[in-house]
Amino acid sequence: MPLPPPPRVLCVQAHPDDETIWTGGTMARLRAEGAEVDVVTTTWAAGAPRHGELVDALRTLGLPRDPIMLGYADGGVPDSSPRPALVDAPFDEEVAALTGHVRALRPDIILTTDAFGIYGHPDHIHTHRLALAAAEAAAEPLLYPDAGDPWQVSSAYLVTVSRSRARRAWERVMSARDQRAAIPPAAEIGSPDSRIDLVVDVHAVLDRKWSALQAHRTEFARSRTLRAIRDLDEQTRADLLGWECYLRRDLVRGGRDLLL
Ligand SMILES: [Zn+2]
Repeated sequence: MPLPPPPRVLCVQAHPDDETIWTGGTMARLRAEGAEVDVVTTTWAAGAPRHGELVDALRTLGLPRDPIMLGYADGGVPDSSPRPALVDAPFDEEVAALTGHVRALRPDIILTTDAFGIYGHPDHIHTHRLALAAAEAAAEPLLYPDAGDPWQVSSAYLVTVSRSRARRAWERVMSARDQRAAIPPAAEIGSPDSRIDLVVDVHAVLDRKWSALQAHRTEFARSRTLRAIRDLDEQTRADLLGWECYLRRDLVRGGRDLLL
């Protein structure tokens, strides 16, 4: 029996670098299987330095098209965009904008973060809500009728981290972060294995994922988290970045498998 065609996938993440840290290996594997994959990044303006770095990261992962920038300001970097902060802008306006992109790209699957934004970052939590709201709105013809023809997304995959696999790495990375940030203990971040629906082994594309992450040059200069990931020994870093774990949420009966 011939294999079904690979799914069309839209990855919706908050900041330039989230697409690579959390879902970069999955996207590289999907591209190798011939899948169409696009990325929406909800913060940062097109033309900012981090936009160019994101373009470089996507090319390294094998994505031929540029990212779509929703263009809201990063909650931690007000000058990332002249527009309002992602968490402060009118939610309906944000959903309408993302719905238009979903209807234009017609993805079978949306990738975004889990409900806690993996470690509680407000922009990540907001992006999760926005992605799921737009996935539902895209199929409803009475909502945003000017934003394109309705489109039904089949499944959402919410990336999380496995507490058991990544705990040691997280303890090191989180201890390097600014301790004023309200972050729960590493033992509570991510999901227990019993809740995880899909574990994607990305060790085969880990070199590519690591190269893509390093394309985010200015973020390595700014972010303690990224420098802490860089400073991990190779095995611990592979424990953190070599597995991409998802909670699967089918939006239609049967949903859609992410990988063939
Ligand atoms: Zn982020």
